[in-house]
Amino acid sequence: MKKLKLMELRKAVIETCLKMNAEGINRGTSGNVSVRTDGGFLLTASGVPYAKMKPAHVVEMDLEGHYSGDYLPSTEWRMHMDIYRARPEAKAIVHVHSTWATALSCLRKDVPAFHYMIGVTGGTSLRVSNYAEFGTQELSDTMLKAMEDRNGCLLANHGQICFGPNLDKALWLAGEIEGLCQQYWAASLAGKPVVLSDAEMTSVLKRFKTYGKQKADLAKGETLTVFAPKLRRK
Ligand code: ZN
Repeated sequence: MKKLKLMELRKAVIETCLKMNAEGINRGTSGNVSVRTDGGFLLTASGVPYAKMKPAHVVEMDLEGHYSGDYLPSTEWRMHMDIYRARPEAKAIVHVHSTWATALSCLRKDVPAFHYMIGVTGGTSLRVSNYAEFGTQELSDTMLKAMEDRNGCLLANHGQICFGPNLDKALWLAGEIEGLCQQYWAASLAGKPVVLSDAEMTSVLKRFKTYGKQKADLAKGETLTVFAPKLRRK
């Protein structure tokens, strides 16, 4: 990848970190952000406050666990690397210890389809992984299992991690997951949330294939045919 392009991506990673803090889904330096490159990925450095982060603090890594530059990558680099290795569709990853997602992760129970937006995870639930210590291969392995057919999951007694086709979409998804966890928490306090049926969620998931896409995206291959009635511009 050309140096100029890498510099742009480094800046985009820092911007995403700053937005993450502005949106209130990150606490201190506990979260981390990465973006895929031609031969690997760029990941935030370990322990550098985002407000002070410079492009050099975004560490270049390959998919074998090697890094270059003067700064150590986040201690959670293994989760990022393993997602890029296992999931070709992942182009950017956001990992945070956001309050509501982290709180629910400590219950070690999957969040069911209490709201149709659970479909943004790619399936009918938001799964939680088993507990494993941060930075370990064991954590990566249980995370990948919880992420089967999903683009995000909770990490037991830890937080949440998700990926997207770019940095903006990964950040958006992390915000959605956090919101859903807060809503589920509130609904559970008030009573027993009614969970949507598989048939209801199958319909939602079909429509989510084109959710949030504009005409230019759809022209690249996806169609609106799953919508009924068909969307038409006046
Ligand atoms: Zn973490």
